[in-house]
Amino acid sequence: MTYQIPLSINGALMASQTEQWLEVHNPATQKVIARLPCATVTEITAAVQAASQAFIRWQATPVPERARLMLSYQALLKEQHEDIAYLLSQDTGKTFDDAKGDVWRGIEVVEQAANIAALSMGETQMNVASGVDCYSFSQPLGVCVGITPFNFPAMIPLWMFPLAIACGNTFVLKPSEQVPLVPMRLAELFYEAGAPNGLLQVIHGGQEVAEQLLAQPEVRAVSFVGSVAAGQQVYRAATQQLKRAQVFAGAKNHLVVLPDANKQQVINNLVGASVGAAGQRCMAISVAVLVGKAADWLPDLTEAMARVKPGVWNDANAGYGPLISPAAKKRVLGLIARGKQQGATCLLDGSQVEVADYPHGNWLGPTLFSDVTTDMTLYKEEIFGPVLLVMTVDSLAEAIALVNANPYGNGTAIFTASGAAARQYQQQVQVGQVGINVPIPVPLPFFSFTGWRNSFYGDLHAYGKQAVRFYTETKTVTARWFDDEACSDPNMTIDLK
Ligand code: NAD
Repeated sequence: MTYQIPLSINGALMASQTEQWLEVHNPATQKVIARLPCATVTEITAAVQAASQAFIRWQATPVPERARLMLSYQALLKEQHEDIAYLLSQDTGKTFDDAKGDVWRGIEVVEQAANIAALSMGETQMNVASGVDCYSFSQPLGVCVGITPFNFPAMIPLWMFPLAIACGNTFVLKPSEQVPLVPMRLAELFYEAGAPNGLLQVIHGGQEVAEQLLAQPEVRAVSFVGSVAAGQQVYRAATQQLKRAQVFAGAKNHLVVLPDANKQQVINNLVGASVGAAGQRCMAISVAVLVGKAADWLPDLTEAMARVKPGVWNDANAGYGPLISPAAKKRVLGLIARGKQQGATCLLDGSQVEVADYPHGNWLGPTLFSDVTTDMTLYKEEIFGPVLLVMTVDSLAEAIALVNANPYGNGTAIFTASGAAARQYQQQVQVGQVGINVPIPVPLPFFSFTGWRNSFYGDLHAYGKQAVRFYTETKTVTARWFDDEACSDPNMTIDLK
């Protein structure tokens, strides 16, 4: 019988009573690897109640104890790194190296969460008035919620719950219905690491379950990562219900190439950043902007891209794995067809690619378009597949204007040998994460993940200091202590002006 995924509530695994089930597939084979329950309202309520109860004790737990839980968790995740990556490669189809990277980037956030004492310290000022001191604390919010996408099933849940919980909150995670196995394993390991019951719950389902979870009155804040359409709905629903929200949404990331850059480095980096992970990264490069003479490198870029082949997770020669689902593949194929119809030149078409022995996988070969214009659907929509669009401009100023006219602002990069050009780009580009000769500039967890414009809705971003501010409230105390002798002096006054 196919494995039926349980829910995780109050530190225990429980079988759902739902009548609505979804199937989870291995995207390289279409084999059903598990059945996923869409949690009932009673189960969603039970998960939030468990988190709410656990919060009473956890918020008062000493900071070093919270930090120690993160240290134990980090150690356990490191020990289990390859096993989690194996599971991840079955769920997502990612190559093993890529799957290990997904887990590792999450482990790094747990390391940061172990630093919670220093991260969450408040501010102090003596003598704000005569005899009066002022200081602030960071206090947790209560029950926080995470809704995560399919493309990083280890890293993205780990962006959220370790820092939220280290701050003293409790958490309910609703992972992507397409890749639930790794988030479940992360929760099991969290309890194995010694988490008290109720700190983290995992419930399953799709949009409806996410909406019901958000509507629970005890939920104070939501962290969401996913598509723009869903993200906008979540941001509106959360803020309308007067809840905090940080919403990380879609992207269209441009890499600008100046002709003084090193050609081979540009080509190697462009290929990896556009088709790696089958282009299913929110920081993938989907548009190359070749400035001036850099346009002459197009034939070499085409040749280098043509050498990359998709394949299964343990094929050492595979550049990347399959798309997540037949529906995702159909959507990307539709965009490729539309690009051709609308007049873009398809220099490399991966639509017909096959992988020996895996006839049912959602394969798509590297695909490259030139002569792309900004009014084409291919340019306007996020593709989320191994497809690179090439555009040409005459100057850096034109490149900057092009990037800034695009509604997304997640990541961008410039490749150049000129410090002045790089600095101009870094200053003027309206994108939240900029790489200089670095194609995918994902910040490490002591910084924050800072997408802008339609790639992010909210104020405070994921991980780093901003996440601590997102998951806490600041309490500011203004304090005056009376000296006994002074108190008995009827002439003593304290100037509070
Ligand atoms: P998705 O929007 O389909 O689903 C994401 C999550 O939201 C899932 O858990 C899903 O069940 C839930 N959901 C879907 N519709 C919802 C709704 N209306 N209300 C509440 N919840 C809803 O996204 P996906 O296909 O799983 O992931 C790919 C998308 O995620 C891409 O657009 C990609 O750019 C984006 N992404 C962004 C970042 C970032 O940091 N900006 C990182 C990773 C992925």
